[in-house]
Amino acid sequence: MTGQRESILISVAQVLRRAGVQHPLQRSAWLDELRVGDAAVPADSEIVIDLVLEATGTAVVATGTVRAVASCNCRRCLEPFDQPVEATIREIFEPRPTEGETYPLVSEHIDVVPLVRDAVLLSLPLAPLCRADCPGPAPERFPAMAEVPEGEAADPEVGRETEAQPDRNEPPRDPRWAALDQLQLDR
Ligand SMILES: [Zn+2]
Repeated sequence: MTGQRESILISVAQVLRRAGVQHPLQRSAWLDELRVGDAAVPADSEIVIDLVLEATGTAVVATGTVRAVASCNCRRCLEPFDQPVEATIREIFEPRPTEGETYPLVSEHIDVVPLVRDAVLLSLPLAPLCRADCPGPAPERFPAMAEVPEGEAADPEVGRETEAQPDRNEPPRDPRWAALDQLQLDR
């Protein structure tokens, strides 16, 4: 991750000319991977920027949203899944920015990439779940990792997974495996 490779420079000359006038800014960005733990917006996946820029004195206020789709691994069942994320933006660009609080405004231009990167990172789920009631892995197969939530037995998927293990020498029970075998024969 290079971190500083990209920039999207936006001229705010028109915005600064008249305070209080709202200027829409809609862009898409494709950045390096943005990751927090088990959730990431992959490199080169679209990040949709939908902002309104407005001048206050020598500063520019950006409000709006940044949206992306995060690729996550469920912390309970470890299965991968996609989750839309959206960050609400209210940030300030100014000629003398405060580190960690506002963003730089240089020669009547702003770079929205640092703002977008920060916003996406903050919007990523810290403990991603494929669904709110994910029962986790089958406890007989992964006893060390099993969480045992209530109502687990009611889930037909789990019931099926926790049945007797298929013997390696027996024909597979699941028709999907039979289809895979067929594919391999066709090669
Ligand atoms: Zn899950």
